[in-house]
Amino acid sequence: MIIDLRSDTVTRPSKGMLEAMMQAKVGDDVFDEDPTVKVLEQRLANMFGKPRALFFPSGSMANQTALKLHTQPGEQVICDKTAHIYNYEAGGASFNSGISCKLLDGKRGMFTAKQVEEAINPDAFYYAKTTLVEVENTANRGGGSCWDFEEIKKIRKVCDKHELGFHLDGARIWNALVEKNESPKQYGELFDTISVCLSKGLGCPIGSVLIGDEEIMKDAVRIRKVFGGNMRQVGYLAASGLYALDNNINRLTEDHKRAKEIGAVLINQSYIKSVEPIETNIIIFELNDTVNEDQFISSLDKEGIKLIGMGSGKLRIVTHLDYTDTMHSKFLSILKELTF
Ligand SMILES: *Cc1c(COP(=O)(O)O)cnc(C)c1O
Repeated sequence: MIIDLRSDTVTRPSKGMLEAMMQAKVGDDVFDEDPTVKVLEQRLANMFGKPRALFFPSGSMANQTALKLHTQPGEQVICDKTAHIYNYEAGGASFNSGISCKLLDGKRGMFTAKQVEEAINPDAFYYAKTTLVEVENTANRGGGSCWDFEEIKKIRKVCDKHELGFHLDGARIWNALVEKNESPKQYGELFDTISVCLSKGLGCPIGSVLIGDEEIMKDAVRIRKVFGGNMRQVGYLAASGLYALDNNINRLTEDHKRAKEIGAVLINQSYIKSVEPIETNIIIFELNDTVNEDQFISSLDKEGIKLIGMGSGKLRIVTHLDYTDTMHSKFLSILKELTF
């Protein structure tokens, strides 16, 4: 038995999901003729209370498209120093949109409205023009942390005052919604554009969607084409998204519960230095200085358990749909038995 805890992207489509995919009605989506894609896009637009949504092959492409839609070359986006758009999209912000990132020193991936206000460049010709603010919820490098919704509202006010666009990287917004008992419409009301992933906690093999207002989304199809993201009979994949929206959102609470249980065991082990607060399905922890990281990973690997290092001495575990109760009890007992 392999227990793969590297990411919530490692899930395989379930039998039910595969059946839904096999039955999908499809057409050529480049001709705007795939009925299942249209249903998925419309459904997500409605969920978030926005007029438009567009299906993408990846969350990176959805985010990169949003950056392009909001900015002109030379402009600047404000985001956290740990943001996915800055760290894990291969420098795409500068490559694709010719923009720079003003990095905020947030806490666990989250910053305040005051920090945003202070980071906006003054209106002088020698500064990059600040035109966009980006928030990530849950924050990945922040350890699956959930934003305080009141702070997001305050940031929206700052955006309004300074005429800045407001984008949400909601790759794991589903985890925040179930954990904090929030609604997608709350987010739709505050953000101009929102990217969501179907391929993470929701268990689809592929797929992300960019949701937004009419005006800003006008060129989204063109930008997706420029990035090479036009797709044909992609309704088979959209069908997996529809299945996931019906079946896999509420169950995320199980992933969160198991993550907290893992954290509770970890914190009591002699080889652990610290465990960051666990809010959703991500656990970030540090080993004692005396424990070698590679040795730790390979000891677990020998037991069939996979996890990854995040650099700077931090390790990450992510719970997900394919992490079963049996795996959970086995993993917990292995953690208790390990010695270094
Ligand atoms: C996974 C992820 C994305 C998108 O990743 P892709 O692998 O391109 O789908 C975007 N933002 C965050 C925070 C993520 O964790």
